[in-house]
Amino acid sequence: MRNQKGHDMRRSWTGYLALTVVLVGIACDEEFDRGDLCPLDYLVDQAVLDAEFRVDISTIATEFNVYPEEGFVEADATVTFRMRPGQHRARIHFDPAFNHNWLEGTFGEMNTTVTGTLLNGEALDIQNPADVSRIESETSLQPALEFQRELIADGAHTLELTYRIDFPLGLDVLASWVNDIAGEGNEVWFPTINSPQELARHRLTFNIHSDREYAFIGSGLVEQSATVDHQQFTLDTEREIASYTVMWVLIPRAEVQHEERVVQGVDVRIMAFKENPDVEEAYAAASTALEMLQRDLGPFPMPRGLSIFLMISPDDTNQQGFGVGGWGMEYFGATNSGVGVLIHEIVHMYFGCSLIAKTYRDSWWDEAATVWYLGHVTTPIDDNYYSDMVGGQHPTDVGFNTDAYTEGAMIIAAMAEAVGSREQLVAFFADLHQTRAFEPFDTMELLDYFYAFSGIDLKPDFIWWLYSEPCS
Ligand SMILES: [Zn+2]
Repeated sequence: MRNQKGHDMRRSWTGYLALTVVLVGIACDEEFDRGDLCPLDYLVDQAVLDAEFRVDISTIATEFNVYPEEGFVEADATVTFRMRPGQHRARIHFDPAFNHNWLEGTFGEMNTTVTGTLLNGEALDIQNPADVSRIESETSLQPALEFQRELIADGAHTLELTYRIDFPLGLDVLASWVNDIAGEGNEVWFPTINSPQELARHRLTFNIHSDREYAFIGSGLVEQSATVDHQQFTLDTEREIASYTVMWVLIPRAEVQHEERVVQGVDVRIMAFKENPDVEEAYAAASTALEMLQRDLGPFPMPRGLSIFLMISPDDTNQQGFGVGGWGMEYFGATNSGVGVLIHEIVHMYFGCSLIAKTYRDSWWDEAATVWYLGHVTTPIDDNYYSDMVGGQHPTDVGFNTDAYTEGAMIIAAMAEAVGSREQLVAFFADLHQTRAFEPFDTMELLDYFYAFSGIDLKPDFIWWLYSEPCS
C-alpha cells in the first residue's frame, strides 16, 4: 500500500521522500549503546497463531444479491475449513457481527443484520453466548466470533452465514476497500480469518438487481453471465490466497471506461471513471513495471493478469470520495491506485501478493522491499539503529509499522550492501520468488533463506533493527 490517509491523502510523492530524509537524520543522531537494549520476541511460535486463528480455511464462497436502488445487499457465505492442530472451537472474523464497520468512513452508514448461522448444518443463535461468543482478543485489535461447539480434529467443517448489509441510498460503487497498514481487510464483507498466512480459495458471486447496467473488475478469474432477471458477475481466485488481497469493484457501466490490452505478455485491464485522463499514462507505467519485474524476478505471478481500478489523480475531485488517489492498495492480480503510485502497487504483485508475509507485523518487508526495489531508498541502515518495528507488535495483531517505508527500506538496502550489490539482492529475491511464492514466511525465515543464498547471517543485526527496546 502507498498510504496517504485523511488530510494526508493528497500528499505528493516528493513530499513523502522529503519525510524519508528527515527520519533518516533522526535515526543516525541517536545516542546508542547495545548494552542498554533488550531483544523482544523474534521467534513466532506457530502454536500461538493456531490458538488465536483456530481454523484452516480451504474455501470461502459468498453470493451477494445487490439491490442498488433499494440500498441493500443480501449475502450468503459458506466457509469450508479444518481445525488447526490442537484446536476444537472454531473462530471467524466477521466485522458486521460487531456493528463495527470501518467502511463507514468511505461509504457512509452501513448496517448489517446476521439472519442465519449454520455450523455443520446446525442452526446457532448468534445472539446467544452459549452458541456464539464475541471474543475481543487480548493480543489483536481484530475481534472474532467463537462458535461454542466442540469440533473434531479430522475432517472438513462448514460454516454458513446469511446476512444483510444496508448502505446509503444513492451509493452506486461497492468495492473491497482494504487498508493493510491499519489491518482492515475483507472481513467487513464476508467471514474469513484476517491474517496474511491464512490462505483460502475465494469464490464470490454478485447478482445485481437493477435496471442500470453494471461493470465489474477484480482479482482472479472474473466472468459475467446474462440471466433472465439480473446481471451476474463471478470472481474466482482459483488458488488459495490471503483474504485481504481479494479485490472487487462493482460500478454502473455508464460511469466508467474499461479497456483490456496485452502489456509485456500480461493481460492488463484498466477500469477508470470516464473523466479520468490518466489511462494512457497508466498503461505506460504498467509496461515499465512489468518489463522490469519479469526481467528481474520472474514471470508475472497471477495467471489471469492484472486488473487496475485507476483512481483519479489527487488534484482532481470526485464523487463520494471514492477513487481519489495519490493512494493505492495492492491485491492479488489487482490494484486500486492513482497513476502516480501505480508502479509501486504493481511491484507488490511480487512482494506481498505472491511472496507473502506470514503475519501482519512481518509485512514490513514487503513494503520495504518494494520501496527499495524502486530505488526510492538506497542508503543502508546505520549499524547503530534499533527499533521495535516488528517486535513491538504481537504476531496475531493486525496492521504494520509504517517505518517500513523508510527505515525498513534502509534495512533492505543493508541486505544489498551485505550481499555485495543491488543485483545480488535482486537475484536473491528472484530465487525466493521461484521457491517460496504463496508459502507465507516471517522475518526470521526470510533471513534463513538469505543465509542459505549468501552464507551471510544477518539475524543478530535484524534483532537490533526490528526487535529491540531499551531494557526496563
Ligand atoms: Zn506498498
